[in-house]
Amino acid sequence: MPLFHQSVRALVLSRRNLGEADRLLTLFTYEAGLWRAAAHGVRSLSSRRGSHLEPFTEIAVVLSGHGRLSRITAAETHDYFSALHSDDDALRRAYVVACGLLALFGEHDPQPALYLLLQQLWHHLPRLPQPRRPVAEVAAVLALLAGAGTAPHISRCRVCGYTGTDRSVRLEPVHGSIVCSACSPAGPSVWRLSSVALKAARIAAARNDLVLRTAVSETDAMAVTMPWRTYLRWQGAQIAGEQ
Ligand SMILES: [Zn+2]
Repeated sequence: MPLFHQSVRALVLSRRNLGEADRLLTLFTYEAGLWRAAAHGVRSLSSRRGSHLEPFTEIAVVLSGHGRLSRITAAETHDYFSALHSDDDALRRAYVVACGLLALFGEHDPQPALYLLLQQLWHHLPRLPQPRRPVAEVAAVLALLAGAGTAPHISRCRVCGYTGTDRSVRLEPVHGSIVCSACSPAGPSVWRLSSVALKAARIAAARNDLVLRTAVSETDAMAVTMPWRTYLRWQGAQIAGEQ
């Protein structure tokens, strides 16, 4: 196996302890997508690298190793995203999106557009007023699904072709589509998109300026985000089942 030595930009998604003093980091790199790497000795008090490897930070990092075994040989924090780190609601939403990324993509699959999207999301989320956050979260989830080629078609009812937003609809993960309440009045509530949630999802899918400007009420916030969190988990389970 050849020795590699590569400098990359990376968003730190997660970390876990490995043995006495080491950590296993899951990085989302601009150059090569997801990349797991070990950081040796970073939990010792004298380690200077340890402080540069916090989840939800952007780092410049040198990865080296043989084949698939990578280790971090140098790291420097590029952006700490301090506003995100002091905002629990924003962190929770960023966590949902990070988990989606891990569920939908494999290692060493470059996704530069999604890298920029995540970086912007971590910057914008804590600065957005609460009512504008649900649509921003759904937009990121839909972008992940689109990047993975598994975004459902939400522009019309699969059965009757209804394109309005007055009826509620239900997501049909198996078909990658929606069905309106007139065509299918009963079904699992977990997949229901209320009229408000459908409007929000269409704005989110369009990925234009409205994404960061659309507010939803506190009462509607869960109805807007929950079906998509469930969809991500369902899609992740499908992919895991195929492997
Ligand atoms: Zn219909």
